[in-house]
Amino acid sequence: MTSPAQAASDASPNADEPIVLATLSPSRASDFKQCPQLYKFRSIDKLPEPTTVHQARGTTAHLALEWFYDRPADERAPEVLYDLFRKAWTELRGSEEYEGLFETAEDERAWGVASMELLANYFGIEDPQQVVPMDRELDLVEELDGMVIRGILDRIDERPDGELVILDYKTGKAPPERYAASAFFAMKIYAMLIRQRLGRTPVELRLIYLNGPTQYSMSVNDEVLDGVQKQVRAIWDSIVRAIETDTWKPSTSVLCDWCSFQDICPAFAD
Ligand code: SF4
Repeated sequence: MTSPAQAASDASPNADEPIVLATLSPSRASDFKQCPQLYKFRSIDKLPEPTTVHQARGTTAHLALEWFYDRPADERAPEVLYDLFRKAWTELRGSEEYEGLFETAEDERAWGVASMELLANYFGIEDPQQVVPMDRELDLVEELDGMVIRGILDRIDERPDGELVILDYKTGKAPPERYAASAFFAMKIYAMLIRQRLGRTPVELRLIYLNGPTQYSMSVNDEVLDGVQKQVRAIWDSIVRAIETDTWKPSTSVLCDWCSFQDICPAFAD
């Protein structure tokens, strides 16, 4: 996901160049919608955030699931997915991002065991031997209404009736359904990107929460996606205005409890 002229969405500002919004990803659009100050910390200031064991689990599980669907349908058994998770973690754990993540080998082992339990839940949600993914980890970059929107989609399936379904795996705890709106907002942007790329409108969005386990589903159509495009346009324009005026309003909510920047946030200054 990318960048400002410096690309504002996903690029670091260079003091010598003006910041210009060049691309916007669904997650950064959700950031701005939630809290403009949060967007600034992440996308303009590019402040580092500590990697957590939960993020490490999410990244590793996504990689394992991507590889899992490279396998023929009759090989998609739980043990295969567990092995792929171990293989994915073996590849990832040496990177700087995960350095010092676990204090002890026992902590890492316990994390691995809990991760396997989470992956086991996946088989209660769908039967992977019946799944025919059309694509996975799809890098989407599309120009829409003068904006460049970019994101990586977990999975897209074509149903037996020929309709398209957009899917997103979540390893965090499933929120009550009424709080899943933010996750669905990002999914609708992915559906909009797919419509732009393929000229076909996805009919369903599915959020698969391994920690629950549960899944939420939502129907979409052209009218819904046209509305989302207008919302994204409004967010894009608001970000451009915020950059031009250097005005980033903090918007407090219960989500501040999970914000990495609370210590430096103006809304929490003494
Ligand atoms: S602590 Fe809350 S108000 Fe401050 S940046 Fe984070 S989400 Fe926004």
